[in-house]
Amino acid sequence: MKKTIALVCIAALVITLAVSRRAELNAVKTFASRKPCLTLVIDAGHGGEDGGATEGEVRESALNLDIAKKTELMSVFLGLPAVMTRESEIISYPPEADSVKKRKMADMRERVRLVKSLPQPVFISIHQNKFKLASAYGFEAYYGAETGSAELAEIIQGSVNSLLERDNRRTIARISSDIYIMKNVSCPAVLLECGFISNPTELAQLTDDGYQRKLAMIFACSVLQCLGSLEEHYGKD
Ligand SMILES: [Zn+2]
Repeated sequence: MKKTIALVCIAALVITLAVSRRAELNAVKTFASRKPCLTLVIDAGHGGEDGGATEGEVRESALNLDIAKKTELMSVFLGLPAVMTRESEIISYPPEADSVKKRKMADMRERVRLVKSLPQPVFISIHQNKFKLASAYGFEAYYGAETGSAELAEIIQGSVNSLLERDNRRTIARISSDIYIMKNVSCPAVLLECGFISNPTELAQLTDDGYQRKLAMIFACSVLQCLGSLEEHYGKD
């Protein structure tokens, strides 16, 4: 199974470089060895009025969206049903949300509603980190409370550490209970801090199209690799 996934990923990467995004979405649907009974919900963190962390001209929300779109593409390519919580940097807020705080809360509630409306969701929230010391670096995977979350985080963190950041010694951690969206989606969930935009070397990587594709490939392939644990959450063998 692991060999099959690796071969599929290589094929996917070659083709993603060669053809347009829309064509890929339309043309290639089922690379997985069996149809997964899950919906991967890909959440590009922040957006709209909330740009997240910033570094110079770089907005975390835009970086998150770039990586999320590539993850969607790779997921569909591998036969994994995928839905995005947002498709652009613009978010429409309800008219009654008359403050930044209320608009942000309305957006979070809407994202949770979307997740809960989908069949057998698995939630991946994509973020970037920032710290006052420019030397801080490294991908970090956090996991939620539901079955399968820790396993998925472990596979993603392990793959990033061994394939992309060989000197990254970070290990997975349970997400803080005050992160609204992670607390309320009630499904297998991970929050991925892809790296520190405050570290110039890591920022250069994170804004690189090829590096983003590698992250996306790891995220989608890790979900497939973790299918057993994730489906267990929904009572499947
Ligand atoms: Zn963030």
